[in-house]
Amino acid sequence: MKRILIIEDERPLAEAVGFSLEKEGYQVDIALDGESGWRKCREGAYDLVLLDLMLPGMDGMEICRRLRKESDVPVIMLTAKDSDVDKVLGLEMGADDYVTKPFNMRELTARVKAVLRRGAKDREAREEAILRSGDIELDRERHEVRVGGRVVEMPLMEYRLLELFLRHPGKALPREYLIGQVWEGDYYGQSKTLEVHIRRLREKVEPDPSRPSRIITVRGVGYRFEASGEIS
Ligand code: CA
Repeated sequence: MKRILIIEDERPLAEAVGFSLEKEGYQVDIALDGESGWRKCREGAYDLVLLDLMLPGMDGMEICRRLRKESDVPVIMLTAKDSDVDKVLGLEMGADDYVTKPFNMRELTARVKAVLRRGAKDREAREEAILRSGDIELDRERHEVRVGGRVVEMPLMEYRLLELFLRHPGKALPREYLIGQVWEGDYYGQSKTLEVHIRRLREKVEPDPSRPSRIITVRGVGYRFEASGEIS
């Protein structure tokens, strides 16, 4: 049985969420403040953490940051407003997904299921030497990219970008996350550079680079890789 930890200081909300998830067959623990939440995170082997951003004491951001340093447990942030999204999914915090309050339980449980499924897929992908999507293959042992069976020349930065996309199909990846992962540099200095590399990458993997169907621009966030022939 999958174990989920809810860290949320509004008790009625925490309990309502817990009840819904238990009905779905998950085992649920609740922590009502940051400190006890963090303690539970470290003690319990959870499959997923639902984390409120605004908590008394140690806040959700701090917990997420700490968690990322020592574990790859999926985290879904509960945020009060959409404007927190960049921060939440960005490099600094690295949450896997977010839900904006107020949310309905059906939406939340759908996100929980999706993140758990993706987590399982990511773990598989991490172990695979070849990452695939449609006719794109990235061979990590040979350090080679093939499209439609033909080897495509790919500079390191484009290779890294493509690898990130193949690892996170269907997920909007924030610009600052991509930049942080690929260049390990600061966001503002590299923003234009990212666009250039995305354009070059599109020329290599898109059937029609002027109308991208694989590397999709997500306005205000970044880019999303559409996996072909995959149901997500
Ligand atoms: Ca709160």
